[in-house]
Parts: sequence; structure tokens; C-alpha cells
Amino acid sequence: MFLQNWWYTTLLGVQQPASPPLTGDHEADLVVVGAGMAGICAALRAMQSGRRVMVVERNIFGGSSTGKSAGFLTPDSELELSQLMRRYGAAGAKDLWSVPVRGIELILATAQEHGFSCDLNRQDSLYLGKGSSGAEAVREEAESRSALGFESTVYSKEELPRVIGSDAYSGGIRYSETWGIDALRFAQQAKRVLLDHGVVVHESSEVVEIGDHLVRTHLGSVRAAEVIVCADKLPRSLTPHADNVFHAQTFLSISEPLGDREVMEMFPGDRFQCWDSDLVYSYFRLTGDNRLLLGGGSAPTTFSLQALQSTRVINRVVNGFRNAFPALSRVRFVQYWPGLIDTTRDLLPTVLRDEKSPWLHFVLGCVGLPWAAFCGDFAARHVLDPGNQEDHHYYHYFRPTRPFFVPLSLEGLLGKPLVFAMNNAWAKYVQVDRTT
Ligand SMILES: Cc1cc2nc3c(=O)[nH]c(=O)nc-3n(C[C@H](O)[C@H](O)[C@H](O)COP(=O)(O)OP(=O)(O)OC[C@H]3O[C@@H](n4cnc5c(N)ncnc54)[C@H](O)[C@@H]3O)c2cc1C
Repeated sequence: MFLQNWWYTTLLGVQQPASPPLTGDHEADLVVVGAGMAGICAALRAMQSGRRVMVVERNIFGGSSTGKSAGFLTPDSELELSQLMRRYGAAGAKDLWSVPVRGIELILATAQEHGFSCDLNRQDSLYLGKGSSGAEAVREEAESRSALGFESTVYSKEELPRVIGSDAYSGGIRYSETWGIDALRFAQQAKRVLLDHGVVVHESSEVVEIGDHLVRTHLGSVRAAEVIVCADKLPRSLTPHADNVFHAQTFLSISEPLGDREVMEMFPGDRFQCWDSDLVYSYFRLTGDNRLLLGGGSAPTTFSLQALQSTRVINRVVNGFRNAFPALSRVRFVQYWPGLIDTTRDLLPTVLRDEKSPWLHFVLGCVGLPWAAFCGDFAARHVLDPGNQEDHHYYHYFRPTRPFFVPLSLEGLLGKPLVFAMNNAWAKYVQVDRTT
């Protein structure tokens, strides 16, 4: 198993020239900083407005979390429905659940409208309980879905082997309208659409300063009426809002293509995208060419400051999978890669218009491609046509001043990893917030 992002491998041979870096001084009506799923969706929305739009990306389109992701398109990115129900009540949970649902619809509509070749496969989600607490988590999820009128199918431990080739799980819940995607190919093809519609695109262009309506990179600058920042791992020197975001580490691996028999061993019927109920969960699905994509992490390394390159954690994840699926123990994993997912303290995104500089907008800490897609599009809509938007209230959910368990001021004493770990766990398992 060697260290390389599989999605980069799938890009090899694709005719997609890199866009040049920003050099010299320019003007635009709207600049989007960062071309992950959020920035791409912001730019796609702005592209339709007739304004002069520019995207400035440090790496390549999709070159950070988006292009490293496992490509599960499910509303259930990190916060389960039952957790949103506890925190916000039924109405709030339904309101928030519709954010990633609309994000998925946006991604699908874009891919379908422009005919993207991005390994988009319909795959029902299967959330798998482990042990007695896992069975309880499945039951809570089923109750929440039923309370909100969402369809799902629940499997007991005894029923599960009908749909998945393992007896390691204590129960499962299945639901539809979820997909798998190669998000790096999506991002690169979205770049082509933007270029075709007159959007100016610069890759290899790190924004190093944001002044009064002015965005500077190492080699150039652009003056703009409005700026939407959808960048990850921002340094504090660019904005104090960076304090609201940290990152969680996860690892992914990919196997050689499975044979028909192995696919049948794994999924006797339909193919699913799966994850389990562990706090640091494992997740897996099949790609279009039957490769097994398997990911996970470990509690001690989740909030590591740097992306770890060693195989230690992913080997443990692979061994856990082999124990759960003994019939697949001979499957060979060929590549692995780590990734740092930007997250806020409560796993909801932070989206705001800067109070002191109202021309400056931020979309930060989106955990999950669907959340990022919605939030980028949301920010662009509210910049371009604020008077005609009916979902202004999401600014309230996503404000940086919403309640958190441990304040940022304790970082000096406890350290950022601990403050984020405590807040994340609180938001997932305890927090109740009916003030929104
Ligand atoms: C290994 C891994 C697996 C994952 N699996 C899934 C999954 O299966 N399903 C799911 O929904 N989510 C998954 N995620 C999470 C998901 O990828 C992210 O939540 C999502 O991509 C966030 O999108 P974004 O646009 O907000 O951020 P990003 O994709 O991080 O985009 C931010 C962009 O900003 C650019 N940038 C940063 N700083 C600057 C600067 N100064 N100047 C210019 N550009 C800058 C970056 O290069 C980057 O391209 C996974 C993440 C990882 C790392």
C-alpha cells in the first residue's frame, strides 16, 4: 500500500489543463477564494449572474478536502438526525437536514446538467450499529426518521446478513437518495464549465492578504466589489474567523478491483455506502469499477496538528474490516492517503457576512460535501440577490457566535485539540439549543 490519493490517480490521463496563477493587478465584481465544493458551488451560482467572476485557488480545483474525500453523498455527514433532533427539536432538525439534502440535489443537478464523468453512483446508505450502544444508536435514528416522516428500513442483527456479508454488527438502518462520487473529477469538470461561461480561474494561487476590497496572492491581486472566502485551514493572519475552525483527521485506502464473487460476499443484493456507530467510525463503499474504498481514523490522531503519513492507523482500519468480513480477507489494498477535514466546534458550518467589512463573506468548516455545496451556493445567492432569498434564517444557525460548550478563550489553557474534541463530543451527544 503506498501513499497516494487515489482520486489524483484517476485524474491521470484526463485532458484538463491547469489554469495559470494570478499575476498582475485585476478587477472583478465577485471573487471566490478556494475551489473546493463550497467555492465551486458559489462560483457556479455566480456564473449565471452576468457579473465578472474570478476564482482564486491555492492548489488545483478540488485539491484539498473535496478531492481527497470518500465521496459519500449523504445528508448524514457527521451529525446524525437524532443528534440534530435532540439539539434543535423536530422543526429545527428538519430545517437543518434539508441543508445537506439540498446540497446533494445541487451536486447531482450540476453533474447531470453538464454531463460530468465523475463515477456518480446511486448507493443507499447503511448505518451499522456496533455492540449494544450501536443497536441503540440505530433505534434512535430510526425513531427520528419516522418522527419526521422520512422513509428508512431497519435491520436487526439477525436480518443484516441478508444485505451485508458480515455478522459483526448489531443492527442497521438503510435509507435512499444517497450517492457516491469522485469529487475530484467533479471539481475539475466544474472548472471547465466555469471557464466555458467566462469565469476567470486561477489555480496555484494562494491568497496571502485580504485588504479593503482587495485580494492579494504571491504574484498578483484582484480588486472586487464582493469576496466570498471558501478556503480551508485559513491562517489567523488572513482573518480572525479562522479561530472558529480546526480539523479532524481521517484516512482512506483503496483496493484492487473486487471480483464478482467478492462483491457478492460483501453485498449479496444492493450495494451500499456504509459507516458504523463508533465515535471515530469506519466507512466503506464500492467505486464504479468495484474497488473497495475504506476509511477511518483513531481517537488519538483525530485532532493531530499535521496530516500523519504513517500506515499505522489505516492498517488498523483495514484489519478491523477484515475481521468483520472474513470472506474478504484476501482483498489487497493498493493506495492510502490521509486528510484533514475542517470542522467547527459543533460540526455545523460557519457562514457569515463580516460585520466590519460587509463586502467580505466566509463559508468555513463545512463537514461534508453536501453541506459545503449548499453553503457555497447559499453565500453566493445572498451576495448576488439578497432581497429575493427565503432562507436567510440559516445565517442564524451558522453564526460564529452560536452557543458552544467550551469557549475559544480556554484554548490557551487546554489547547486547541482538546477544546475542539470536547465541543465536538458535546454537540454530538449532549447539546440542547432551542434559542435559534
Ligand atoms: C479523507 C477525507 C474523506 C472524506 N470523506 C467524505 C465523504 O465521503 N463525504 C463527504 O460528504 N465528505 C467527506 N469529507 C469531507 C469533505 O471533503 C469536506 O467537508 C468538503 O470537501 C469541504 O469542502 P470545502 O469546499 O468547504 O473545503 P475544501 O475542499 O477544503 O476546499 C477549500 C479550498 O480552499 C483552498 N484554499 C485554502 N486556502 C487558500 C488560500 N489562502 N488561497 C486560495 N485558496 C485556498 C484549498 O486549496 C481548497 O481547494 C472527507 C474529507 C477527507 C479529508
